Amino acid sequence: VEDSVAEDMQRLERSFRGFSKKYRLINRIGEGTFSTVYKAEDLHYESYSNKWDLDEKENLYSPSGRKTHQSGQRRPHFVAIKKIYVTSSPQRIMNELDLLHDLRHSDAICPLITAFRDKDQVVAILPYFRHLDFRAYFRDMNVADMRIYFRSLFTALAAVHDSNILHRDIKPTNFLYDTHRKRGVLVDFGLAERHGTDHQPCLCTLRKEDRKQRIQQSYNHTHDHPLGYPKGDQRPSLRANRAGTRGFRAPEVLFKCTAQTTKIDVWSAGIILLTILARRFPFFNSSDDIDAVIELATVFGKAKMKKCAMLHGQMFECNIPTIGEEGYTLEKIIIWSTRSVTRDKYGNKIRLGAAEAEAVEFLEACLAMNPDQRISAADALQHPFLKERDG
Ligand code: ADP
Ligand code: MG
Repeated sequence: VEDSVAEDMQRLERSFRGFSKKYRLINRIGEGTFSTVYKAEDLHYESYSNKWDLDEKENLYSPSGRKTHQSGQRRPHFVAIKKIYVTSSPQRIMNELDLLHDLRHSDAICPLITAFRDKDQVVAILPYFRHLDFRAYFRDMNVADMRIYFRSLFTALAAVHDSNILHRDIKPTNFLYDTHRKRGVLVDFGLAERHGTDHQPCLCTLRKEDRKQRIQQSYNHTHDHPLGYPKGDQRPSLRANRAGTRGFRAPEVLFKCTAQTTKIDVWSAGIILLTILARRFPFFNSSDDIDAVIELATVFGKAKMKKCAMLHGQMFECNIPTIGEEGYTLEKIIIWSTRSVTRDKYGNKIRLGAAEAEAVEFLEACLAMNPDQRISAADALQHPFLKERDG
């Protein structure tokens, strides 16, 4: 591993002359579909911004503005170098850098320090944020820990959504959480988009009566096109953005909604909460969108899935005998996955305690099938589960 990091360093030096004078690669910290991320020492320390100051004890940046850098003394400090694969499209890379620039004022979002380009090679430099692998701590979280984690995540989401941006890839590896300092930052805007970028009419944006009428019309006319869109339609075929990660995609993404909103991120955050409450990661593990719909149907039941599909002009038919019409409550799912028995010694059904029950009530608000009825990130921060209490 050491050797290949050294090779990577040489490669970076070849593309960007003087790179090795500026940064010293320490190790590889992430390797994804779209990039390789390294931890590196920044050899030319400058105070990048007042918002992100060096924590002298811990050698990392913290978005507090507590301390300011005393010039003259050079200390080691760390950055994350994100080397974006040359196979990523230029628009995609530009988009990521552009959106990060827009969001630079939020403490809950990892800012961009700078970026370099050489032909098709782009590297982004971010402050290094210490964090643990989600799998190392999620099983040990109690409800109080969950409140703090999700307050941090929803603060980030509220800022992103307030800027009319959809992150599109909310999942544990894109929210770097420091369990000691109880703070997290949102990273990876590689799939993010401005609201409305690829909007096209979807049945879900119509009023209920109008939607019903459209569906009825399409039944009367023909059966071999998606509901609601007449045969011989001259408009370009509808293409829904499906970007995201399997298991975290909102039902409207799976049902190819063409008018997706910031609520898709709230769903994905809900899946993280479900994972923590059920103590199972990954909770959903589908290989494709059809599988993913079936997994959702197993939990939520056929009736809800049908209704949800219809909302976006799609059909949902399922003849798998183990999938019921009504599905299960999230409370039941969580009790099944975390308790070895579901009844106490008197034969009474085990119920969740008050704190967990409040978490589940919040979870239900995040996992509403209809995005219109799903809680917004801003409202989530006012929900009893996340609202700061006195004392
Ligand atoms: P990708 O598009 O390849 O998923 P990400 O931006 O999500 O790239 O980064 C991949 C991984 O690199 C993250 O999951 C995280 O472990 C690590 N990483 C990214 N940015 C930072 C940072 N600022 N500080 C520390 N680690 C980071
Ligand atoms: Mg990522």
